[in-house]
Order: sequence, then C-alpha cells, then structure tokens
Amino acid sequence: MNNLYRLLFLVFFYFLISSIAASAQTTTLRFAKLITGQGDVITDAVVVVEGDKISKVASGEKNIPANTTLIDLRPMVAIPGLIDVHTHITYYWDKTSGLSPWNSRMDPPTTVFLAQENALKTLETGVTTIRDLGSSGGMDMAMRDLINRGAMKGPRMFVAGNGLHISRARVTPGVSTVDPGRADGVDEVIKVVRQELGAGVDWIKIYGSTGSAQNVTGFQTFTQDEMKAAVDIARQAGKRVAIHSYGPDGCKAAVLAGAASVEHATDVEPETFAEMVKRGTFYVPTVDHNRYYADHREEYGYNAIIVKALNNYTERNFKSLQLAVKMKVKIAMGSDAVFTGFGENTRELRWFVKAGMTPAQALQTATVNAAELLDRKNELGAIAPGFFADIVAVDGDPLSDINVVIDNVRWVMKGGKPVVDKR
Ligand SMILES: [Zn+2]
Repeated sequence: MNNLYRLLFLVFFYFLISSIAASAQTTTLRFAKLITGQGDVITDAVVVVEGDKISKVASGEKNIPANTTLIDLRPMVAIPGLIDVHTHITYYWDKTSGLSPWNSRMDPPTTVFLAQENALKTLETGVTTIRDLGSSGGMDMAMRDLINRGAMKGPRMFVAGNGLHISRARVTPGVSTVDPGRADGVDEVIKVVRQELGAGVDWIKIYGSTGSAQNVTGFQTFTQDEMKAAVDIARQAGKRVAIHSYGPDGCKAAVLAGAASVEHATDVEPETFAEMVKRGTFYVPTVDHNRYYADHREEYGYNAIIVKALNNYTERNFKSLQLAVKMKVKIAMGSDAVFTGFGENTRELRWFVKAGMTPAQALQTATVNAAELLDRKNELGAIAPGFFADIVAVDGDPLSDINVVIDNVRWVMKGGKPVVDKR
C-alpha cells in the first residue's frame, strides 16, 4: 500500500512540475500601443509569445496569462520586425587593411565571422529579416544557416548566392578566368541558375544593367530572353528572381521577363510602371544607397566628380520613386547596404515619405509588402497569432513621424528571443 501512495504522489508531482514548466514557456510583452502591420492599432497591448511564434495579441491586463515571463515595454510602441529586401551583408570592410572598402576583401571564412558586425548593426535598426542580394563563395548561405541554428546572432536571411552577370560586367583581363555567376546566352543562364539553385539559394539575382558603386551608368546587359530563361528555371524550383537595373531598358525587360522585383531603376517609363501594377511586380528603389555613398565619400575615396554623378543619380531615382508612388506600384524597402551602410538600413523610409507616402504606407513597405515579396506573408511582417515573434519597440508614434522608426528603436525581439535592448 505504501508503494501505491508513493506512486500516486510521484505521478501528481510529475504533472504539477510539467504544468508549471509548460506555462512558464510563454513570454508576455506589454506595450502602450501596438501597430499590427495589418491595419490595426491596439492600445494597452499584450502579446503572448510561445517558442518562436506569437500565440495571442490582445488589449488589457486581464489577457496576461498566469506564470508567464512578463516584459513590460510601456510606454513604448510595438511595430512588426522590419524587413530589408536588398542587402549585401557579406561585404565587410577590414579597416585594419588600410585599403578602401571595395579593395579590402578577405577569405570567405574570416569574412563570414567578421560580418556578424553587419548582422548585429542590422538588428539594431529593427530589421529582423533580410533578403541578401549577392555574395560569393557561399558566404551568404553559411551566415543564413549559422543564424538559423543559433550559432550566430543576426537577422533571418533569404539569400541569392552569386549574382548572374554577363562577361562585360566584371572580368578584369589577365586577372582570373574564374568568375562565378557569369553567364552569356540563354543556355549558360539556364546552367548557372541551376547551379545556384543546387547550391541552396533562396532567390536568383541578376545584374540586368551596368551600374554599381561609383559607376552610375544603366546600360542593359542581359536580353529579355536571357532574363526570362532565368525566371522560368527558378520558377520550376519554386523560387523567384530579383533583377538589378540602374536604367529604364533593363527595368522594362526585367518586368516583361517576369521578375518578382526590379531593383534601383531610374528614368522608368510610365508604361513600365503600368505593366508592374498589372503584374504585381515590386519596385525596390534603393534611393538612399547613393546618398550613403555620397555621405561616405572619404571612406570610398570618391572625388567631387563622382559625388556629383551619385547625387544626380539619386535625384533621378527619387523622381522614379515619386512616379511609382503616384501610380500605386507595389514598393518594398531595400537599403542596398554594403560595408558601413549596415545600421542605416531603414533610412530609405524617409525618401518614401518625402515621395508622398504616409508614415503608415512607408512602414508597410518594410513589413507586409516585403513579406509578400518574400512569399512569407502568413508568417512575417505583422504582429498576429501564428506569425514569427519578430517585434520592435520604439519611442514615439511611428504613424505620425517615420523618423521614430529610423532613430528610436529601443528593443528588438526576433523569433521569440530578445536580441537588442537599449532601454
Ligand atoms: Zn545591390
């Protein structure tokens, strides 16, 4: 009989302990106000987080579960974790080299390790997800996987591996014949896209025109047929294509070829924007990236002539943005951050408001719109049950002043874990 009592006691004790453990697994966040990203604003907000997902969003103290870990973030305001759809996170500047950023490249393992600095600076801006559009040596995939397994701290990454480019774009005569991503003609494009997909990329990136860094030309490179071949092969694998074009011709070809997004383009014709509206193609203007180069002219060694060209590009880029806003083209926020640009990921939002968006619309470009472009609109870009617990606390009201999002990020949660705390 004694043994039976002992057994009953042990069973009771086991259930008591496991029920306490189960309820203690939740974390509850409190905010003065919460912007869901799906059009609602909740005051006195309570968010319950279980594991890496949100299980409940409600208002008022009565919704705080028992035995939860409470993080009281009042009087701050919650916004969804932001998404930057155009970065180059493995572009790391080794300042000890004494060389300019573009010349200070290191071997891939060292770069991956040091690029954690870019990843942390990105989280500090409230960006919890990035689409990284162009790397080399598998560095982007390594970072993505290290972050996913918890071995590295950084944003959730969707990566594109080697960007496809034509011979003209990058070959330096006499230097090296190895040039990953190079493709000329439809057959080579098909082959290289398959190789990138086989390597494990999430996206295909194509350099559809000239132009990068101090070079602000925008001559189309790949033909529309080559671009379409890439889109068709990627689609077979359930993947999408992002096409870089500084000029209007590459942009038009990219849209007609079926790209999911066109990056950077200036001088875009109204007909092309109309086609983008019809097809649902995203425009990722990256207006701020040439502002960044001009501001950081000394680091890059850019002279007055280069800065003038950069500023001229920014002006034309902004005009295309204004037209896109007016024509209601789908827009997503991309910084095109490289090197010291990490930490400035969200400054693009200022251009969006300047071009005519409300702060709420600007916020959408880095939340719901970006999530739609990533084909993840049921788990990213909003604070709602079932979504990843990617949540940012800011000081002030982001709906009356977009600078609150850019300058006042105080606390960040990614996948249910606090990753930034500047309270
Ligand atoms: Zn880029």
